[in-house]
This record gives sequence, structure tokens and C-alpha cells, in this order.
Amino acid sequence: MEITDQRKYEFKVALEKVKELQGKGTELISLYVPPTRQISDVTNYLKGEYSQSSNIKSSSTRKNVQSAISSILARLRAYKRTPENGIVFFIGHRKVGADQTRMIQFVLEPPDPVPTFLYRCDSQFFTEPLDGMLLDKNVYGLIVIDRSEATIGFLRGKHIELIRNIESQVPSKHRMGGQSARRFERLIEIAAHEFFKKIANLSNEAFLSEKDLQGVLIGGPGPTKDYFMKEEYLHHELQKKVLDVFDTGYTDEYGLREMVEKARQTLSNIDLMREKNLIQRLLEEIRRADGGLAAYGEENVKQALAAGAVDSLLVSEDLRKLKVDFKCPKCGFEKELILTTTPDEMKCDKCGEDMEVIKEEDLVTQLFRQAESVNTKLELISGESEEGELLKKAFGGLAAILRFPLNRTS
Ligand SMILES: [Zn+2]
Repeated sequence: MEITDQRKYEFKVALEKVKELQGKGTELISLYVPPTRQISDVTNYLKGEYSQSSNIKSSSTRKNVQSAISSILARLRAYKRTPENGIVFFIGHRKVGADQTRMIQFVLEPPDPVPTFLYRCDSQFFTEPLDGMLLDKNVYGLIVIDRSEATIGFLRGKHIELIRNIESQVPSKHRMGGQSARRFERLIEIAAHEFFKKIANLSNEAFLSEKDLQGVLIGGPGPTKDYFMKEEYLHHELQKKVLDVFDTGYTDEYGLREMVEKARQTLSNIDLMREKNLIQRLLEEIRRADGGLAAYGEENVKQALAAGAVDSLLVSEDLRKLKVDFKCPKCGFEKELILTTTPDEMKCDKCGEDMEVIKEEDLVTQLFRQAESVNTKLELISGESEEGELLKKAFGGLAAILRFPLNRTS
């Protein structure tokens, strides 16, 4: 399954919540199930832990541990097989008030595979294996090349992955032997051409099968890299994705690292550039006399979205709000509110009775779903650029670039 922006976002928010609970509970169970572990194995393991826990002396601790294990067992029944990346449970009890506890449970399917099986019962949730999973996962193709050697690799997030290192059979120009200089020149050129073709083919094979490839970086010590680029040895799809050509001292694995180091600025600019461009487009639209193709303010954006008028929905990554649906049990009056936390009580507007919360959802998750249903791209905007800050501060973290203008009532 593809790891969508939505899944990444939901994982991030869930992990934040799990971490917030650190130190606020006791008997917290963390269970990591890697993709290779069968559900039935895990069930058996937990049954073992359950019987073990009958030795716990404190009756309240025993009760909490056993109810947490039972809850995991119940949830595992919903799985026929282990999910693609495995599954992680955080289940336990948190203290509410003096001597009361409430069960808390999180079930996460992480964006990267769970590395190893782990069961831990502690006063803390164990989240360390998940921390690295939120790093930037953009993928770039890497080639460093000269006439004697080339190395191909990937940059995945912060990690460099070597694909191939190849030495060429191209004779160096000064070893002329007994042949005529012209004939020798020609042989060298043929050998070099064959070498470049081979490197291009290997790169095509590796890079074209990478669905989320963001770009290609080419480097090397001499003019070969520019020649390789100019003569368009790479597949035309990749040729279009070449971001830049870099000088490096080496053409081995170290050369890849050298190039990535030099490309850092280019790469971080590319990520931010996309966000900056979107916000700048929004501002241009807003500045137009007729209001342009823009919407902002929660109500306007939601209306535009419902009308299918939104092209790009711009949402601040750290917008943390909830959409809460209330219903009055007495008169049936319903209302929905966007809030930062769910209030302890809410009186009915019609009859004054205490309303019940019937649904509570993260606003961004809800927007992701709504956007998908009308074929709108939701763009999560980080706060790392000035423009991203502006979206957060001036527009409450939510704005839209429209496909067509909406009739404005005001
Ligand atoms: Zn009512």
C-alpha cells in the first residue's frame, strides 16, 4: 500500500498523543508486531503473558494489566493477517482523579516496517522504534561518473543506498601503445560511449521503477558528467528530472555522499519551494480586485470544498483541531463545532440539557477525506517558511486555491 500524506499525518498525530501520555499512567503495554510475525503467534504469546500476570501481587495492577492484554487480544481478532508494515499497540490505563483510571488505547500501522517483535509493560510507552519513521522520505536518484568509474545510488530521506559501483574498461588517453593515434582515439570514444550507455541503462532500470522519485542528481570530478547529461544518455523521463549537476572529487560511494552534502541546500529548497509557491499563489489571488480564486476562513473554505470548487486545499501541518458532533438526548438537536479540545460539558441550545458527543475527529483527517471525495489535493504546509507561518497566523492554518470563483454573498 502506498503511504499517503494522510497516513503519514495520522501516524504523526497519534504518536504525539501517545507521547503526551508519558508518565501519566501505569501498567502501560507497548506491543510491536513485525510484518513477518503471524497473528496467531502473537495471540499465543499474549495468552502466556496473561497467565504470568496472575502472579502480580497488587490486585489493581493485576486487573489493569489483564484488562489491557484482553483488549489487545480482542483487537487482534479483527486481523486475518499481519498488516504490510506490521502493527503497534499502546494500551494501558491512565490516572484520572485521585484513584480512578481510564483505559487508553492506540493501534498504529506505521509508515515503515516494524523491525522486531517486542512486548513491554512499563510506566512509560516505548516509542523509540517509531521515532525515525517520520523523517523526510523523499527519494532521489544519484549518479557520480567519470570515464573510469561510476556509482549509482538512491537518497531516501537522509539515507544513502548504494545500487552499483562500476569501473569502466575505457583506456586512459595517455596509454597509446603501438596503434595509430587516430584509431586509438576512436576506440576510446567507442568504449566511453558503451560505458555511458551501460550506466544509463542501469540507472533507468533502478530509477524508473521508483514511483516517488523526486529528482536525479548527477556529479563527478570532470567534464564527463556534463557530457553525460548534455548527450541525454538517460531515459527522457529521468532526463527531465535532473535537478542539477555537481562537482565531486570522487566517483565511488564516497562520491555519492559528497554530492548529497553539496546538494543539501538545493534539496531543502525544493521541498520548501513547493509550499512557498502555493502560498504565494494564494496571496496573488486574494490581492485581485474581485477576490480572485481564493477562499479563507473556516466557513468559506468548507463551503468551497463542498461545492467542489477547491483546486488545492492548503492546511498547516500543525493545525491541531477537532471536529466534534454533539447531539441532545432530550430534543434531538445536533450541532458540530471545531474545537481544540472536547469540552467536559455542552448545553443544548434549544432545551438546555447536557448534550452528548456522538463523534469526534481530527479536523485535518476529516479534511483529507472530504478533499479526496471531491478530487481535491490537500497540501500540508509546514511552518518552516515565512509563507507557511503566514498561513498559520493570518489564515488560521486553512485556505484554498479555487478552480472557479464562488458566488459571494457578502
Ligand atoms: Zn435539547
